[in-house]
Amino acid sequence: MNVSNSSFRGLGGQIHNFNAGPSILPRSVFEEASKAVLNFNDTGLSILEIGHRTPIFQAVMDETIALVKELMLLDDEHEVLFLHGGASTQFMQVPMNLLDDKETAAFTDTGVWSTKAIKEAKLFGKVEIVCSSKESNFTYIPKDFAVPNDAKYLHITTNNTIYGTQWQKIPKTSNSLVADMSSDIFSRVLEFNSFDLIYAGAQKNMGPAGVNLVVVNKNILGKVKRAIPTIMDYRNHIKEGSMLNTPPVFAVYVCMLTLRWLKAQGGVAAIEKLNNEKAALLYAAIDESPLFTGTVNKEDRSKMNVCFVMNDASLEAPFLQFTKEQGIVGIKGHRLVGGFRASLYNALPISSVQVLKQAMHEFALQYA
Ligand SMILES: *Cc1c(COP(=O)(O)O)cnc(C)c1O
Repeated sequence: MNVSNSSFRGLGGQIHNFNAGPSILPRSVFEEASKAVLNFNDTGLSILEIGHRTPIFQAVMDETIALVKELMLLDDEHEVLFLHGGASTQFMQVPMNLLDDKETAAFTDTGVWSTKAIKEAKLFGKVEIVCSSKESNFTYIPKDFAVPNDAKYLHITTNNTIYGTQWQKIPKTSNSLVADMSSDIFSRVLEFNSFDLIYAGAQKNMGPAGVNLVVVNKNILGKVKRAIPTIMDYRNHIKEGSMLNTPPVFAVYVCMLTLRWLKAQGGVAAIEKLNNEKAALLYAAIDESPLFTGTVNKEDRSKMNVCFVMNDASLEAPFLQFTKEQGIVGIKGHRLVGGFRASLYNALPISSVQVLKQAMHEFALQYA
């Protein structure tokens, strides 16, 4: 049975889930995953109680990796790993594997997550911050900056989840490119092979919390002099097919279901078209409204996380209450920005955006 999100009924009626992360996944994925908890593939066993080295789980890992390669159109130089921990673990693991202590990594500073990645990289080598929008509370993506030729890599955060900005154009660089794609992975078509390393915590657009996707060009590994602990060395995970130790089996399984769903939607290009429509609808509602204002530079607006405030801040609490009564959840802004943030991840149906738009319109009729 394929039940869409829009027909999901919570206790109080239909729910429209704009949470920033963990966040909405397709309803059909939840249904299949819950069945697998009770009886996985008609084995009479739960997916939670089988060995990760059994053929039935090996098939899950193989299919998940194959789906990533297919959906991202990866070449044979790029390896796909599913690793423990959130994206925050990659803030450390990336420089540990790629940056020697006398070498420099270049970073773009576009928000809290970039800032945290910078802090960890400094533990392993030198960091040069090549641009920052910190002085404006990260309301834009810097355009003019130079990357030192000898920088080992350039790090970008493709989508800034908290502030609602997104690199619409990936910077051209002769350096190795590393990206945190936690909040826009699989949401738009990019030339993924032009990156040497991509990482993403699963819980925004790909699956449940507890697993990381890492896509790495194997040719960049093995160049640092330091001894890397076994579990931190990407080469060991490549060699063992993401089974160096017990992988987060259930999280990987749910990623597989989500990627199957994405493929059935027509893949990344098809979902990007829908994501563009959803974002255009909501930004138009903000721009047309007498009550609301977007918080970031228009050309850098994120298609995933839409941040906006009310011109009269005293109306924010009543608006939140008004939307709550319509089943709209998860739109309270991050404390560093305030106002509202509506996250429009892949699984959010356009009908939920229409409900939010209508709520904004009706609220304005009462209060504007
Ligand atoms: C959520 C997020 C993170 C942190 O992910 P964890 O899995 O909680 O470590 C890092 N980067 C970006 C861009 C995020 O959106």
